[in-house]
Amino acid sequence: MLHLGKEAPYPGKEYHMQKAAYRMCRFLLPDVLTWHTPNGGHRDSVEAKLLMADGVVSGVPDLFVASPRGRFAGLFIELKVKGGAVSPDQARMMDYLTNQCFAVAVVWNLDALETLLRWYASLETIRPLQPLSIDEIIETGPRSPQTGKQSVLQLGAVASNQ
Ligand SMILES: [Mg+2]
Repeated sequence: MLHLGKEAPYPGKEYHMQKAAYRMCRFLLPDVLTWHTPNGGHRDSVEAKLLMADGVVSGVPDLFVASPRGRFAGLFIELKVKGGAVSPDQARMMDYLTNQCFAVAVVWNLDALETLLRWYASLETIRPLQPLSIDEIIETGPRSPQTGKQSVLQLGAVASNQ
């Protein structure tokens, strides 16, 4: 697991670091979609079970930079502040994401985040696969195991710009 800036951890609350980190992502990679997965913080066990039933997964890193670059499918960033620690769920998730060819880093301060983002922005944008048109998705999409017909056509799929 790659840790950056751990020798000088952010002294404030992670909430404040998160806001600054997101702004930095928008500034340094303005054309790239980046989002925060808000699954941190403390929740009671009932709320946690409800969220997990909806598909919220424990251990997903704080930020995702949705742009394949260099040899990576995208960039996941886990933010940590002074006194923080990587949980077992986070460690397992980061191992999984690394094995799926994502760049993954635990970042402990904003200088380290800037270094990471400038490095990632410098990598060549890649397209390991070409996006399919809706017509191509319909043509090559899933087929019903019963009829052998394309399932998306049975659902009335049509190409649309909306
Ligand atoms: Mg965090």
